[in-house]
Amino acid sequence: MTLIMRYLFISISFLILISCKKIINQDTDTSIYISDDIIINDRVKIRDTIFNYNTYEKFIIELVNSNRFIFVPLNEFEQTYSSEKIVIAMRHDIDYNIASAVRFARREYKIDVRATYYFLNTADYYSSTKSFSVIRNPSVLTYMKKLQNEYNHEIGWHNDLVTLQVVYNIDVKKYLTGELAWLRMNGIKIDGTVYHGSEYCYTYNYLNSYLWEGAGLNTNFPNYDSVLVDGIYKRINKFKLSDFEFKYEAGLLNCNYFFADVFFFDNKRWNMGMFDWNSLKPGDRVIVLTHPALWD
Ligand SMILES: [Zn+2]
Repeated sequence: MTLIMRYLFISISFLILISCKKIINQDTDTSIYISDDIIINDRVKIRDTIFNYNTYEKFIIELVNSNRFIFVPLNEFEQTYSSEKIVIAMRHDIDYNIASAVRFARREYKIDVRATYYFLNTADYYSSTKSFSVIRNPSVLTYMKKLQNEYNHEIGWHNDLVTLQVVYNIDVKKYLTGELAWLRMNGIKIDGTVYHGSEYCYTYNYLNSYLWEGAGLNTNFPNYDSVLVDGIYKRINKFKLSDFEFKYEAGLLNCNYFFADVFFFDNKRWNMGMFDWNSLKPGDRVIVLTHPALWD
């Protein structure tokens, strides 16, 4: 082989390699690219006629096509007012299933809807938590970057921090300060948080919202200042949102309609077909909470 031929051969091979990489690096009709190691299957089976990705997609398409709504992520909710349109925010608590959240996020992105995704600090896509130690799963960052940088969604913190304090004996101030510094240093903008209803909350009768000074008491969860775990009283250390540069707690945002896929009416889980969306009027402010995991 002459030198020129050899050079041409190497260049062409290199070009082929790059173009292959490009194709692999993107979502396809049936898969979502997170990283070379993580590809999410987006060819999903419909198991429930109401709670599935297609009905969710159809629902948001209908709202968008009606041209009556302004969709905002929750960090823009308080500042957004309109006398002509309905301001609506889609809140998604990811809980334990990251793949279902990514599938939701992609469907919204396809029709230019920006929403908010709350990553749960005790889910295994985020960390593995043991007594006195939390080990971060670094791949959480690739999911966050996908949702924030490619799909234009907001990333928020799904707070399971009282659990860290009372069940796992973690110094939460140190932990959260370190985590938020790491996320923000890596370009993830974290403005808001919302508390998670952990199964431990039901065992030990506290809420994760009790992390915050001045949080309201829910009498079903009476352990506001301390929690008895394995015969030992554990104090709930309390903080201000501003200690961590959080701008809001999503549960405290003012709206005149709040819907959630975990509400039950007459033993039926709330779904969007139960409400007449045409009854909303310009100026209304709406938050819809869904848990994508429940739609999988
Ligand atoms: Zn949750």
